[in-house]
Amino acid sequence: MKPGTSSASAALAALIARSQRIVAFTGAGISTESGIPDFRSPGGIWSRMQPIDFRDFMSSIEMRREAWRRKAVIDQDFQQAAPNRGHRALAALVSRGAMSAIITQNIDGLHQASGVPADKVIELHGNGTYATCLDCGQRYELAPIMVAFERDETVPECDACGGIVKSATVSFGQAMPQAAMARAQAESTACDLFIVLGSSLVVYPAAGFPALAKRRGAKLVIINREETDQDGSADLVVHGEIGATLGEAVGVA
Ligand code: NAD
Ligand code: ZN
Repeated sequence: MKPGTSSASAALAALIARSQRIVAFTGAGISTESGIPDFRSPGGIWSRMQPIDFRDFMSSIEMRREAWRRKAVIDQDFQQAAPNRGHRALAALVSRGAMSAIITQNIDGLHQASGVPADKVIELHGNGTYATCLDCGQRYELAPIMVAFERDETVPECDACGGIVKSATVSFGQAMPQAAMARAQAESTACDLFIVLGSSLVVYPAAGFPALAKRRGAKLVIINREETDQDGSADLVVHGEIGATLGEAVGVA
């Protein structure tokens, strides 16, 4: 099937129309059209800045200071980003009652910003738009942290317990959030259509959900610019842009 052609969108629309319970699985690719670079494409975030492993983050205040330095750079993209056509199309499917959940590897909060109720978004890698205390769980907004950091590189600590405050994302080497994983598993099992959008499907355990859905009888759709390892098991593969393909299929501009 040709990239982004209307025949791809028509095939997708037909699958959507036939389904009772759709689940979306989104990766960094759904947010590139919002100006947030993805992970692995040339010029992607991590070709410029390696992520800091959780153990390194915990090991010293110097590493935490370096993590906050990188966060300050990445945040410039995040703060300017608004939901794009792909996000809007998913929000429409949720509001029509066709989509039960959006499982996301993203940390940018753009699904919620597009109007999807927070309880319909399952965040596997956390959320980078706020911070939490690793000891007591207290939530901290980013703006005051970043103001203090940019003033004199103050590394945030918890006011309540003195614990280490970290962006609410799941770092490499950090445990996956159990409740989110359990919900993602249940949704993957219960759906009849599972749509992967903009994930290279190489980061496990998250990348195991499409195969789980397929095993439990769902149709599997993969929309991605380039091939993924799981294309062979999909019922429909679209190598094209997410916004145009999904927007056309759902009838959202
Ligand atoms: P990835 O970067 O590994 O893969 C993204 C895929 O999307 C690529 O295969 C790319 O070809 C494709 N793509 C990019 N733009 C596209 C578009 N407009 N239309 C169609 N396809 C497009 O991303 P991943 O698999 O999600 O894994 C990266 C990890 O990095 C995630 O776990 C996530 O936590 C983190 N991350 C998040 C963000 C974010 O929150 N926006 C951004 C970068 C990285
Ligand atoms: Zn605390």
